[in-house]
Amino acid sequence: MKTVYSLLLACMVIVYLPAGAQNVVRQHGQLQVKGAQLCNQKGEPVVLRGMSFGWHNFWPRFYNGGAVQWLQQDWGCTVVRAAMGVEPRRGYKQDSAGSVRAVKAVVDAAIAAGIYVIIDWHSHNINLEEARTFFAQMAQEYGQYPNVIYEIFNEPERQSWDEVKAYSAEVIGTIRKWDPDNIILVGSPHWDQDVHLAADAPLQGFSNLMYTLHFYAATHKQSLRDRGTYALKKGLPLFISESAGMEATGNGPLNESEWLQWIEWAEQNGVSWVTWSVSDKDETCSVLLPSAASDGGWKETDLKESGKKARALIRKYNKVYLK
Ligand code: MG
Repeated sequence: MKTVYSLLLACMVIVYLPAGAQNVVRQHGQLQVKGAQLCNQKGEPVVLRGMSFGWHNFWPRFYNGGAVQWLQQDWGCTVVRAAMGVEPRRGYKQDSAGSVRAVKAVVDAAIAAGIYVIIDWHSHNINLEEARTFFAQMAQEYGQYPNVIYEIFNEPERQSWDEVKAYSAEVIGTIRKWDPDNIILVGSPHWDQDVHLAADAPLQGFSNLMYTLHFYAATHKQSLRDRGTYALKKGLPLFISESAGMEATGNGPLNESEWLQWIEWAEQNGVSWVTWSVSDKDETCSVLLPSAASDGGWKETDLKESGKKARALIRKYNKVYLK
C-alpha cells in the first residue's frame, strides 16, 4: 500500500512539474566562445535568452530564489542577470556585504535551477579596486560553476575605449587567477553602443570574452544594428546583456516593430539577449506592477505591457527548453 501511495505521489510530482523546468546547464555545460559565437561545451552554437533583474539597491525585494525559479519555469529564461548597483546609495561601495548577499541569492538560485546567471557590475563609472575585490571573491566562490558569466562593466558612460580596455584587462586578469574559463562580458563606450571601437581594437591575450551591445528599440534602430553587424563581421563576439522595447531612458511608449527587428537580428546572428528589467517602478521598462509578489508566482495582471511582451518573446524563442 505504501509503495502504491509513493508511486502515486511520484506521478503527481511529474504531472505538476511546471513547463520550462529543463536544466539547461546540464544540457550545455561549460560555455565557450568560438570565433564570434557563444558555444556550449561540445562547441555547438548556443543562444541564451532571459531577464535582467533591476538595480539590486533599488529593487532588492526581487533578489531571491522564488523570483529566479519563476523566471525559469514560467518565463522560460535560460539566463538571468543580477544587476549589482555599485553606486549610488546602498550600492556595493556603500554596502558591499549587503550587495554581495543580494547577488549570491540570485546566483545560488540560478545554480540550483540549472540556468546561466550573469554577475553584473552595474556601474557607469570606473571603480577598479572595488571591481577587482568583488570579482576576485566571485571567481573564487563560483569559478567552478559553469552557470556563471561575469559582466565587469555594465555601461561605460564617459570613458574612452582605451580607458575601458585598460580597466577590463585588469579585472579580467584578476578573474582569470581563479577562474580560467567562464565567459566574461566586456562593456564598450557610450552605454555599450560603441562596439565598432572594440571591434577595431579588441582585447588581446584572453579567451572566452564577449562584448556587450545594449539596445532600447524606440531610440536605437538600424544604425546600431549595422554597427553590431560590422563588429560581428570583424569577429567580435557580442552579447546583448540589456535591451528592451522603449526609449533609452527606460520610459516612453514601446516600439514593438523595432523591438521585433532587434530580436530577429539577434536570432539571425546567434546573439544572446537579455531584457531589462525585473522591477516595479512606474516606468515602461519595469516589467512588473507593485502588486507582483517578491518571490514569483506573477499573474498576468501583475505584468506591465513590456513584461507581457518580454515573457512572450522569451517563451517563443526558448520553446525548445519548455518541455
Ligand atoms: Mg570556470
